[in-house]
Amino acid sequence: MSRLFCPCIKIGAITITSDTISISISKETQSIKPTEFVGIDTNLNNISAVHSDGQVDVFSTSNITKIKERYRKVKSHFRRNDVRIKRKIFQKYGIKQQHKTKQIIHDISKKLVSQKKQLIIEDLTGIRKLYRKGNGQGTKYRSRLNGWPFYEFRRQLEYKSKWYNGIKVIKIKPNKTSSKCSICGAKVIPEENRQIRCHCGHMEDRDINATRNILYKGTPVVQLRGLRVKSINRRFDRAKTNEKNQV
Ligand SMILES: [Zn+2]
Repeated sequence: MSRLFCPCIKIGAITITSDTISISISKETQSIKPTEFVGIDTNLNNISAVHSDGQVDVFSTSNITKIKERYRKVKSHFRRNDVRIKRKIFQKYGIKQQHKTKQIIHDISKKLVSQKKQLIIEDLTGIRKLYRKGNGQGTKYRSRLNGWPFYEFRRQLEYKSKWYNGIKVIKIKPNKTSSKCSICGAKVIPEENRQIRCHCGHMEDRDINATRNILYKGTPVVQLRGLRVKSINRRFDRAKTNEKNQV
């Protein structure tokens, strides 16, 4: 609470309903001009982040999927007929799983925002569409993905980045981020173990390649050239090390 007493915080409208009071507060933040950029992507079991300084993070979110699945199982095994008790129990489980999920997401968004970089994400209205019926994915896969709190994660990134750093998150169109090579832009060939390969020689984990595309799409043109050169150099360095290892 003590943070609320910062003179930079202004109290706005107060709304009172029969069981809640909500106070809107605003803060004057000194905008930071970020020099580094981060592309962020949400995948089935992780959140990946590729930074313009070369750092790559993969945060596991498999706990979220597990929590959701456990909740679904409890629901499906419940045979009591008393609707009121049933509703109460489901509600209790539901709130608990929401809290746990939110906490995991909070930790990840905090880590990403605390680095004071320009965050770049995909526009999620498009992402949801990707996982709709008729896109060639199984029902189970689709429901697991749609159960993932995409919107909550994005909401947290957006408000935290604004609140702490005064930086607005950049949102890019999600077209083709997972199907094209982040180095040359050609269509990638899927390989085993979630890897992708391109005729230009680029090989990478497919989530990281997609996240790299998000980073490049959202990075202003001035910085983009340097970034691409860096990642091409990295590819050659890697190829050289591979050659050395084979000799
Ligand atoms: Zn390529």
